[in-house]
Amino acid sequence: MNLSLQEKADLFGGVVTARQLVNGAVPWFCQELVETESAQARLRQWAASGGMARTFPPARIREELRYYGDPRMLPAVIDAVASVPPPVRDFVLEEVALLGIGWVHIGRTFLAPFEGQRMIILSGASHDETRIGRLVLHELAHAWLESPALGEVATCLPAAGLENVDALARDEGWLDDAFRWRRAKENRADALARQWEASQ
Ligand SMILES: [Zn+2]
Repeated sequence: MNLSLQEKADLFGGVVTARQLVNGAVPWFCQELVETESAQARLRQWAASGGMARTFPPARIREELRYYGDPRMLPAVIDAVASVPPPVRDFVLEEVALLGIGWVHIGRTFLAPFEGQRMIILSGASHDETRIGRLVLHELAHAWLESPALGEVATCLPAAGLENVDALARDEGWLDDAFRWRRAKENRADALARQWEASQ
């Protein structure tokens, strides 16, 4: 979804002018960051709440990040979260919980403390911090771009339910559309994660 330059500047609620945007006053801003209405709404809300003026001590990520599970994966996860733009980082600290599994811990049981949060599951099976960092960026891009506001209808179906959706789509002849939507989502997340990787 392409916005005009003025529309992009307007997302900042008057704190950033179109001219400043062109001149790189907001170095982390890119088209890929605002490809969806959800992402535009999040940026607008963040700027309206004074996000551009807020300072952020880096230690807050370790203190506030809701990361559960495999401790061996924590440094790569923290590094990835530290590398995303401020509005995404603040969104992650406020609304996202992450669960790592597969590097040292291959299973984990606990009472889920995730009510009312987005959940990102990360596999550490690669035993490769670079790959885990990329995985975190990709999933954070999905969360930022795609997920609805908290309180909206949950979109996560049990895997068996997802099979039913595919079966229904096949029956009704829109399976190709379903694949196309999923592909488009993947492309958007990849494009944004690549921007973040390039700026690291
Ligand atoms: Zn994906």
